[in-house]
Amino acid sequence: MKAVAFAGPRKMELRDIPEPQPAAGEVVVQVAYCGVCGSDLHEFASDMPSMRAAGVFQPVMGHEFTGTISALGEGVNGFSIGEPVVVHPGGPCGECYFCKSGAVNLCAEQTGTGYREQGAYAERVAVRAKQALRLSDTSSLERAALTEPLGVAIHSLNRGVLRAGETVFIAGGGPIGLLTLLAAKHQDAGKIVVSEPAASRRELSLRLGAHHAVDPAQVASVQVREITGGLGCDLAVECVGIAATMDDCLASTRRGGRIVVAGAFEHPYSVNLLNLLLQEHSIAGTFGYASEFEEARDLIVSGAIDVSPLISRFVSLHDLPSAFEELTADRNRDQKVLVAPNG
Ligand SMILES: [Zn+2]
Ligand SMILES: [Zn+2]
Repeated sequence: MKAVAFAGPRKMELRDIPEPQPAAGEVVVQVAYCGVCGSDLHEFASDMPSMRAAGVFQPVMGHEFTGTISALGEGVNGFSIGEPVVVHPGGPCGECYFCKSGAVNLCAEQTGTGYREQGAYAERVAVRAKQALRLSDTSSLERAALTEPLGVAIHSLNRGVLRAGETVFIAGGGPIGLLTLLAAKHQDAGKIVVSEPAASRRELSLRLGAHHAVDPAQVASVQVREITGGLGCDLAVECVGIAATMDDCLASTRRGGRIVVAGAFEHPYSVNLLNLLLQEHSIAGTFGYASEFEEARDLIVSGAIDVSPLISRFVSLHDLPSAFEELTADRNRDQKVLVAPNG
């Protein structure tokens, strides 16, 4: 079958790889849609030594996907061929301290579809049966491909303990920033301010319900202070992973407020701890999702959160290598691009 493989920095190639065979307890999913994740683009474009180049991760990425069951391994009950599913790429072990306490995102024994195990930039992929979550019908296959990043967004708000009516500042209008916006709206946040340098993304964030979309070139924190009558936001979510936006988050947050770090920082960032103390700021990291994955699926399938405005376009496996080039050459060109490996 066809798959797109990482062949080294800035090199993705279409390959023929062996058809996946379901081991006991596994199912094979025929991939309907797989989202291109910012972290995949980052890995592709990075000059830093990568886990994939080092061979720790296998070469086929793709962890945000839906599809239909196409084969059942021994001992798998409760699924039938053709059934639509969304796949949890982590597949936590269920046995360790973290799994037993509900923090499955912190499990060190995750399956890692698209990382240690073959991902969904391929026609089919074998996963543990418990990674597959049912979808009510095939009509949600497209939208439900955003379950994984929406789960990330909801978890970040949970880490920030968002309460109804609170002002939220979101730094970055990429897919994670905008999904955080949709999730915050759904949780009845008060004012939501998005900072984003690209005008097209500012417009989209306003269309999706942001009350203000500010250009960080005009000093985001000054604008947030103006919008909040000088107080500052209750919660800031950093969705970029660079020093400038983290500075904006700290400077925009009121005394006693919370800052959640959702962006993947490539470089260390220093924090003035005296300031943190004086302002009683709480900074929380956020990693993946626990129960939020199922919650995200339900919100998408029921239509409670409409993620479809974030889907920019569809590409085939054949066109995926060039899409990686385009997406890294101009990061503002698209929001979520979905790969449709089976046409
Ligand atoms: Zn992702
Ligand atoms: Zn575990």
